[in-house]
Amino acid sequence: MTETYDCVIIGAGAAGLFCAARAGATGKRVLLLDHARAPGEKIRISGGGRCNFTNLAVTAANFLSENPHFAKSALARFTPADFLDLVARHRIAWHEKTLGQLFCDGKSTQIVDMLLEEMQAVGATLRLQTPVSTVAHGPDGFRLTTPTGQIGAKTLVLATGGKSIPKMGATGFAYDIARQFGHRVTETRPALVPLTFGDSFAPLAGVSTPVIASNARASFAESLLFTHRGLSGPAILQLSSYWREGEAISIDLIPGIALADSLRAQRQREGKRAITTHLAHHLPTRLVEALTPELGLTGNLADHSDKRLMQIETALKNRTLTPTGSEGYRTAEVTLGGVATEGLDSQSMMSKTVPGLFIIGEAVDVTGWLGGYNFQWAWASADAAGRAIAAM
Ligand code: FAD
Repeated sequence: MTETYDCVIIGAGAAGLFCAARAGATGKRVLLLDHARAPGEKIRISGGGRCNFTNLAVTAANFLSENPHFAKSALARFTPADFLDLVARHRIAWHEKTLGQLFCDGKSTQIVDMLLEEMQAVGATLRLQTPVSTVAHGPDGFRLTTPTGQIGAKTLVLATGGKSIPKMGATGFAYDIARQFGHRVTETRPALVPLTFGDSFAPLAGVSTPVIASNARASFAESLLFTHRGLSGPAILQLSSYWREGEAISIDLIPGIALADSLRAQRQREGKRAITTHLAHHLPTRLVEALTPELGLTGNLADHSDKRLMQIETALKNRTLTPTGSEGYRTAEVTLGGVATEGLDSQSMMSKTVPGLFIIGEAVDVTGWLGGYNFQWAWASADAAGRAIAAM
């Protein structure tokens, strides 16, 4: 005999867990399936183990999508304040780190536990290590094939996320099933990902400095981190979502600093000191050392004319670099692109062509900036679908 549920959700990540709690709120029978051994694994590793669970300044402008308006409705109906209410009810302590980014004071597993408790409170069932091989749709709803038998569902939610970090079980499952049901999937690519430059920056690995990283599409004033393989850090991760193979990026290594003016003033007072000593007030010493041959940073400050100081400022403000690539899905925090939004209702995340089919979270072509935006989209899209299912 086939087990049947009012709602089956595939994917026990951020979106699936929260959707299960919302969909079960009116007594609906909800089953949450995942092929992994544990739920919410990306929540667990997120934010350096403290989960940057939302951002106080969420607007649709913090998301990339073919349709920049699509996310507005769900984001307006479930806000960061709504998630904070939940966090407060579960007595989870948090703090704002920077730029509106909210993190747990303790471990990110507190958020997973909170979502599991919310699910349990409405009687939703979690079944792990259960891959779904096929999904069929008929007049009675959906029929899923799993290793332990068939499962029937009146409504089906695809919450299996994107392709980033395949080692953690990420798959293109939602895209495949969406395509099976006639949905278009936009081009997908790794985003919030370090950019590679061969081993050019290996000697600087570990050095971090505030920059403005930009290209023709976007600009981010955050920190940059040199790595053995290239560049990372928030400024680069953010810009990577707007970068395409073969394109150059621009780095301002001295954001907001009128370096030539400052060095001219210093030259009057301490012209006999090495120019590198003066530059080390504005840049990490190892970076100054690495730039010395290229920029001719030798001798005392007094040896450098106004014109030379201006040349140094210009060279530090406008560094044009062309990445050889990105680290790809192996380390990308998110997948850019996904199930095209034109096929989904923006208020409920339900398919416009297959009634009862919902697609939420990262699987949808809505990709947030770094800083808690992706989890806020997971919560908001899950709430939209969960509420609609609960009301059916
Ligand atoms: P996921 O959380 O990826 O969940 C998908 C679930 O589906 C997984 O449990 C997976 O096992 C399951 N699944 C996949 N395929 C199948 C299948 N075929 N069958 C059954 N189950 C399947 N965002 C933030 O906002 N703040 C952060 O601090 C942050 N830090 C991050 C750090 C890292 C290292 C990474 C990789 C991401 C981070 N993100 C962060 C992004 C955030 O984790 C994701 O955007 C978010 O988890 C997406 O939620 P989701 O539920 O849509 O997908």
